[in-house]
Amino acid sequence: KLSKRLESVAKFVPQDAIIADIGSDHAYLPCYLVHNNIAKSAIAGEVVKGPYESACQEVQKEQLTTKITVRLADGLAAIEPEDGVTAITIAGMGGPLIATILEKHPEVLKGVERLILQPNIHAKVIREWALQNSWKIIDEVILSEDDKIYEILVLEPGDMHLSEIEQLLGPVLQQQHSEVFQSKWTREIDQWGNVREALQKAEQTPEIVAKSAELAHLIATVGEV
Ligand code: SAM
Repeated sequence: KLSKRLESVAKFVPQDAIIADIGSDHAYLPCYLVHNNIAKSAIAGEVVKGPYESACQEVQKEQLTTKITVRLADGLAAIEPEDGVTAITIAGMGGPLIATILEKHPEVLKGVERLILQPNIHAKVIREWALQNSWKIIDEVILSEDDKIYEILVLEPGDMHLSEIEQLLGPVLQQQHSEVFQSKWTREIDQWGNVREALQKAEQTPEIVAKSAELAHLIATVGEV
């Protein structure tokens, strides 16, 4: 059984997709997608030997070796043109790492119809990458599992406009304004407040003053939302 987090990612995989799951670890997600006849076939990419071997074992155990190819490779280098990948999932990493993976092999993304990205932190970096690289957000999810809060971003080729605050909070998530969303940003505002208090006690160098003003701006704008 998949975690609630990965199950939510799976919901956005189009029917009959050829999927590449990058940073697949045990390959639970591709196994689930193929078993449930959502994906026609899959690539599971891993850059670290241990997780790569776990993925190979899982795919063998599930008798899916004809449909899932496991590759030891850095990021999108796991994908070859002949694979005909239509959708990519990258889950369980920080937003900056996901953005780095997407930036490293831009040619691989040509022809890909959908990206389903699940950053554990700093989703903003992915929204910035999407804006700069002509991907638009078609949906977003925020969920909590085991006391952690996760975001899922679903992207398709196209352009969008996002305000500064939408880049931080997520245009769909801000609109939905769910309980999880509110608790995440209430927590963040509290933390910014604590940092700001500490800064005010420190020596007021130009850097400290600037950082403090930036935090005040964040607290005010996010607080307003
Ligand atoms: N995707 C699974 C999930 O969401 O449960 C596993 C997440 S696990 C925390 C992150 C995995 O990404 C690790 O197994 C790590 O080895 C892999 N990883 C990190 N950087 C990578 C890269 N550049 N290319 C491929 N895999 C990477």
